[in-house]
Amino acid sequence: MEDLTPLFRLAADHAARYRRSLRDRPVGIPADQDELTRAFSGPLPTTSTPPEQVLTDLIATAEPGLVASAGPRYFGFVTGGATPASTAADMLATAWDQFATTAVSSPAAIAAETAAGTWLKDLLGIPASATTGFVTGCQAANTVGLAAARHHVLRQAGWDVERRGLLGAPPIRVVAGEERHATIDRSLRLLGLGSDVVEPVAADANGAIDPASLHEVLRTASPGPLIVCLQAGNVNTGACDPLREATDLARRHGAWVHVDGAFGLWAAASPATRHLVDGVELADSWACDGHKWLNVPYDSAFAFCAHPAAHTAAMSYTAAYLAGSDGPPAGAALTPESSRRARGFAVWSALRELGRDGVTSLVDRCCALARRFATGLTAAGFEVANDVVLNQVLVNFGDDTRTDDVVRAVQSDGTCWTGATTWRGRRHMRISVSNATTTETDVDRSIAAIIRLAA
Ligand SMILES: *Cc1c(COP(=O)(O)O)cnc(C)c1O
Repeated sequence: MEDLTPLFRLAADHAARYRRSLRDRPVGIPADQDELTRAFSGPLPTTSTPPEQVLTDLIATAEPGLVASAGPRYFGFVTGGATPASTAADMLATAWDQFATTAVSSPAAIAAETAAGTWLKDLLGIPASATTGFVTGCQAANTVGLAAARHHVLRQAGWDVERRGLLGAPPIRVVAGEERHATIDRSLRLLGLGSDVVEPVAADANGAIDPASLHEVLRTASPGPLIVCLQAGNVNTGACDPLREATDLARRHGAWVHVDGAFGLWAAASPATRHLVDGVELADSWACDGHKWLNVPYDSAFAFCAHPAAHTAAMSYTAAYLAGSDGPPAGAALTPESSRRARGFAVWSALRELGRDGVTSLVDRCCALARRFATGLTAAGFEVANDVVLNQVLVNFGDDTRTDDVVRAVQSDGTCWTGATTWRGRRHMRISVSNATTTETDVDRSIAAIIRLAA
């Protein structure tokens, strides 16, 4: 067999060089999309190209369009970096080319997911008996959680949704905060419930649901299948819904409680922030990302479910050729995919690398750095619009046009990268501190750049 060492070394050398460059390279890339597409395009080659040449061409063609989003001064969206061990583990997952469908197709991949799932539940305050599906992102995790919910509430109403679908089914009511993430609506669409099904609950000043409003919405509810969607970590403000009180209320109406905790669930991993997700263990399903705050490479997320039977019924999938894998449900039995990437290796590696203390300090550090942003920008005379309870900061630079101008200037300056959002009807710069390598110096450099560009 041909020796792949030189080829793989070429990729590894470039990967290491790229990662080293992240501290200094301009963060945003004002790339010309058409030019990039042209550089990748051309007639489909008729004959083969040596792999080393392909790789060299790929690197040269892609480089001008790479965003340093894995670096320490990228504060856009809620974007984590990728820890060294999890990055290297993901490279191995690719080389091993396992399909993590069952324990027969890859015993190691399923074992890694099982072990990583146990560690994740421990860190996130989720009951140890919950099942864990390793999916692509919190979008998929929300879909899995809500599919399990749909199964469960309809089963209680005597309806088998997996067999009969939704035509003629008893109506399901879905109650969710007005500040829910947009992926909840897409999950509801994909599940045939439609986004109009949502009965919105008002939010408090920082974007967490208001329990009095939840009480009101539930009170006016007719009895029947009911799902309540809560949130840990508002994508704009970081605010977490009062999980204990809200779950209590929902339970009184017999609801299934789903928690979208894409990044906010990680608050449970630190004694300093754990109170924000008090009562998290009471829910029925949870969605959380690995590629955001855990700093695992894209793509990586988890769908947890307190009712293994509902989880597997919603995802169940059988074929004669899949028989033979006994044992607890795993892999494709807990996710919407059939063939699937072995995501457990990278997650297991990140958790092993960081350890419990490392995860705690990652959460604490990001929160402290978010507060440092808020303090620095407030001192410079700008308005921080949210209560910085976690890692998200919203900054206002005056009127909407001016705020958008400042964000645009920051994005093209290259010192750091921040996004923009609309919050309470006004435009804001949105800063998310989610990268394990960000330091106080990075934040101070970024604050200085923002102040300079706003002036
Ligand atoms: C990011 C986010 C999502 C979507 O996660 P993806 O990983 O992009 O699929 C869902 N909910 C919340 C609260 C988020 O912050």
